[in-house]
Amino acid sequence: MVRIAHGSKTRWEQVKPAWEKWRAENPEAFREMKRKAKEREWEKNPERMKARVKLKYAVANGLIFKPMECTRCFQQFEKVLIHGHHWHGYEDALDVQWLCYRCHREEHIRLVAEEAMVKGREQMLAVHPRASV
Ligand SMILES: [Zn+2]
Ligand SMILES: [Zn+2]
Repeated sequence: MVRIAHGSKTRWEQVKPAWEKWRAENPEAFREMKRKAKEREWEKNPERMKARVKLKYAVANGLIFKPMECTRCFQQFEKVLIHGHHWHGYEDALDVQWLCYRCHREEHIRLVAEEAMVKGREQMLAVHPRASV
């Protein structure tokens, strides 16, 4: 692993030109790669994928209104950059909070961090039952 000095380009930015060249020259392989990734997602979290498909259908058919504004930062975006975040789980596919891609990413980072914190606390309590954390 190459260590990247602070302030220099990120690893992804260094690799990106080569990646884009490969993608342009191998559209078939790229499509196959995307298809495989989708398959893996279906295997990993079918509930989430089902909810996404239902939501997409509902938006396409006007059953649910998709705004162009993020409900968190109130900025306007193109519709493709607004995501439906399933804030109460995937049971109700149409119960979403409309977030821009940036707020959506942040929200998931927060959820992952929160989950890790809860897990860490449970583990600690299992080892030190009387610890008050
Ligand atoms: Zn936002
Ligand atoms: Zn989400």
